[in-house]
Amino acid sequence: MVNHLQYLKDEIDNLKKQNLFTPLPILGDEQKARTIINGKEVINLSANNYLGFANHPRIRKAAKEAIDKWGFGVGAVRQICGTMPIHLEFEEQLAKYKKTEASLVFVAGIAANRGTIQAIMGEEDVIISDELNHGSIIDGVRLVKCERKIYPHRDMKGLEQALKESQKFKRRLVVTDGVFSMDGDIAPLDEIAELAEKYDAITMVDDAHGDGVLGKDGRGIIDHFNIHGKIDIDMGTLSKAFACLGGYIAGKQELKDYLIQRARSFIFTTAHPPAVVAACMEAIKMVQDEPQHVKNLWKNTKYFKEKIQALGFNTGRSQTPITPIIVGESKNAIRLSEETFKEGLFAKPIVYPLVSKDTSRVRTIVTAIHTKEDLDEAVDIFERVGKRLNLI
Ligand SMILES: *Cc1c(COP(=O)(O)O)cnc(C)c1O
Repeated sequence: MVNHLQYLKDEIDNLKKQNLFTPLPILGDEQKARTIINGKEVINLSANNYLGFANHPRIRKAAKEAIDKWGFGVGAVRQICGTMPIHLEFEEQLAKYKKTEASLVFVAGIAANRGTIQAIMGEEDVIISDELNHGSIIDGVRLVKCERKIYPHRDMKGLEQALKESQKFKRRLVVTDGVFSMDGDIAPLDEIAELAEKYDAITMVDDAHGDGVLGKDGRGIIDHFNIHGKIDIDMGTLSKAFACLGGYIAGKQELKDYLIQRARSFIFTTAHPPAVVAACMEAIKMVQDEPQHVKNLWKNTKYFKEKIQALGFNTGRSQTPITPIIVGESKNAIRLSEETFKEGLFAKPIVYPLVSKDTSRVRTIVTAIHTKEDLDEAVDIFERVGKRLNLI
């Protein structure tokens, strides 16, 4: 039989030639500050485990108890018979935490973005999106046969222009990342909310990297700007700071009710195992009753960022625990990552087409559970390797 997939092999060779083929790194231990990647012990600066919840004793215990009580899988989509009381209890808890009327949990953040945008927008509408929005938002936008406008990154004049040009459409949706995942900068959501009000647009924020990080008790970007009630759709993920799994939408009751009826990525997929739900519930409790986690995250962020900047590295416009170390050409970023790995540090290179050709970087994320020794050692490694490669 002919190999119908030969073209994929050719494509892979192509990617390899351009240095764009990335094998999967293997995490050989729990997700911790120091862990094993590809068989080597490293200080891990690549995980989104902001608060160190991934293997916290309270989370383990909550998940185990849920397995004992409810079993593991649910074996049905939410709409058939996959909704247990614990799913609803969690959605109520999450809404309260987010200070909204209601919330709805999807299997993942990507499903929340895809399903929500697809469900609420139609052919006569327009979606207005920041040029650096996450791929899962872009996917959602692509699912709708409607007009699309992209505004320059965080550019409020550009957004206003797009809104002015959009008045002829039936509805307008402005959608933005809260914290941008490649640069660690924050969307001016207060200004976005005002412009959207002025031009009668629906607003949606993707708080994947703001949840558990920004605002009081990690409530996210809306709390950070204190604009509760001014953003129509608060989307986030339970898989980053909360270190479990899932995406959610928080907002008005009618938003939740409608998405249950119409969001395809909600309807056509099996509900979370109760152990996942119980772990999420414990994480939301923990972030509120143990404030040290968010505090330590920011203490470590400030400490590490200042040290890296003092070495002379360019950290761009980062305002959050995501600190890019911007080194120009792709080959610089790839070498910096490879050489620091050899010295016991794991931070991935991010190169074109994910970022522009002259802003290739190694992206670092510190967490609440890195010790001062971890961070000092990481800074030492960046200094040694940076000097060796003539980057600083
Ligand atoms: C990670 C991420 C998502 C997807 O979340 P998952 O729960 O991992 O599917 C969505 N948006 C942004 C901005 C992200 O960084």
